[in-house]
Amino acid sequence: MSRQSFSLGTASRREISDITDEVQQAIAATGCAEGLVCVSVPHCTCAVYVNENESGLIADTLELAAQFTKRGTWRHNRIDSNAEAHLAAAVIGSSVCLPVSGNEAELGTWQRIMLVELDGPRNRRVTVTVVPG
Ligand code: ZN
Repeated sequence: MSRQSFSLGTASRREISDITDEVQQAIAATGCAEGLVCVSVPHCTCAVYVNENESGLIADTLELAAQFTKRGTWRHNRIDSNAEAHLAAAVIGSSVCLPVSGNEAELGTWQRIMLVELDGPRNRRVTVTVVPG
């Protein structure tokens, strides 16, 4: 098993970044040709998913995440003011697992690895764990 990580700074409260190139570079740095990769974020208020990097879809995803704000009073807001960010992150998920083939994550033609900031701006860390196999 090999682990790499990288950081990125986010600029706004909610935004989505395409981290595919950084993840592919991290996989290449492990030297693993075949296996599995887990891309994860060690944070409670950001998330990762795999889908198309299309501006309309990104706006739709952010709008969906923002709807958690509109759903009444969340109990977590008694100690913090970001319950909707925690909830959206939990629903989207904090990791994705992909096959590694030919020294890179195997993705479909339109698939990209996307990081969702839900409580920015912050500095976020992405961990890329590769398991050869
Ligand atoms: Zn919180």
